[in-house]
Amino acid sequence: MMCLFCKIASAQIPSDIVMQDDGFLCFKDINPVAKTHLLIIPKQHIESFEAVPSGLMADMTIFIQQLTRKLGISKSGYRLVTNIGDDGGQEVAHLHFHLLSGEKLTHIYKR
Ligand code: AMP
Repeated sequence: MMCLFCKIASAQIPSDIVMQDDGFLCFKDINPVAKTHLLIIPKQHIESFEAVPSGLMADMTIFIQQLTRKLGISKSGYRLVTNIGDDGGQEVAHLHFHLLSGEKLTHIYKR
C-alpha cells in the first residue's frame, strides 16, 4: 500500500505542482494556513525527518534553496516546518517540509 504522498509523487493522485526534479517534488498544500503554503517531499518514501539519510537531506536542502530563489522569497523570507511523529502533529507519514510565505508570519504554525 502506497502512502498518500507516494501516490502524489507518482501522479496517481493529482497535485498542484510548483517545481520538481528527479528526487523531489513541491506542490501546494490542499488546506493552506498562509498566503503561500507549499509542501516539499522526497519522491522516495521516507517516514519522517528522523529517518532521512544526511546525503538525501543535503540534496533536499539544495532543492529547497532553488525553489525559494524561483519563488523570489530568498530575501523577503519564509518559514520551513517539518512535523515529526504523534507529538509533532505529523498526519502524513512521509517526510515533508511545509514552506509558508507570502505574508509576515506572526502566528505560531499550527494546523
Ligand atoms: P502534517 O500534519 O505535517 O503531516 O501535514 C500534512 C499536510 O498535508 C497538511 O497540511 C494537509 O493539508 C496536507 N495534505 C493532505 N492531503 C493533501 C493533498 N491531497 N494534497 C495536498 N496537500 C495535502
